[in-house]
Amino acid sequence: MRGAADGRPLLVAGNWKMFTRAATAAELAGAVASAADAAPGADVAVFPPFPYLSGVAAALRGSRVALGAQCCHDRAEGAHTGEVSAEMAADVGCRMVLCGHSERRQAGESDEAVGLRVRAALRAGLVPVLCVGETLAERESGAADRVLERQLLSGTHGLAADEVRRVDVAYEPVWAIGTGRTATPETAVAAHRTIRAALVRTFGDAGAFPRILYGGSVKPSNAEELMRSEGVQGVLVGGASLDAASFRAIILAGAAARS
Ligand code: PEP
Repeated sequence: MRGAADGRPLLVAGNWKMFTRAATAAELAGAVASAADAAPGADVAVFPPFPYLSGVAAALRGSRVALGAQCCHDRAEGAHTGEVSAEMAADVGCRMVLCGHSERRQAGESDEAVGLRVRAALRAGLVPVLCVGETLAERESGAADRVLERQLLSGTHGLAADEVRRVDVAYEPVWAIGTGRTATPETAVAAHRTIRAALVRTFGDAGAFPRILYGGSVKPSNAEELMRSEGVQGVLVGGASLDAASFRAIILAGAAARS
């Protein structure tokens, strides 16, 4: 189905994971800013490691690129050594935050914890990018749709309609992340349909608003085809976002896909 999100630009987002150093992060941010200027038809975001957020915010000042954090705690502040709150991320210039990335789920983050982080992000005025995706075993056993719905519903549990409108979702099959194995457009389209249907069933008209991105071994050679696929409203890119030329090509593909 075509939803309200279809009228918005595609989002090309780069997850830098635990890579870069202060100098290379600022340099990469500069390159992303100039790529975004060359592709006004696409929205662009980057998610650097926490220590480099301020430096990247400075490098992005005045650009079209949104800054995001890779995670946030559910409390605004407190005795939580080693954690970073959504309010802190917002304070240094973030506009978005990844919630429930599979690398964090694999490290023990529960569905419930992801839901609390989504709410914390909204409380702080950030756009949460709720990441959902099945493992290979779950896909092969026919459980993929059930897993996606479970992660989606617990990630958005208790949200009001006006809150769910401010969420983005990333479908990231675990078997495609960092493996070089990309979902076929058909697989991505079917998963995006499942996600959209669950959103609309749960939130009515508001469920048509979240953008649904695809993530998993996106590269310049497959980005445009994926972003031209029905219901794919952008991409979340890991490895290829660390290479300025590759990420530029994916940003340009995002603008081309909507032209
Ligand atoms: C990711 O980290 O969200 C991701 C999709 O990684 P990659 O593009 O490297 O598969």
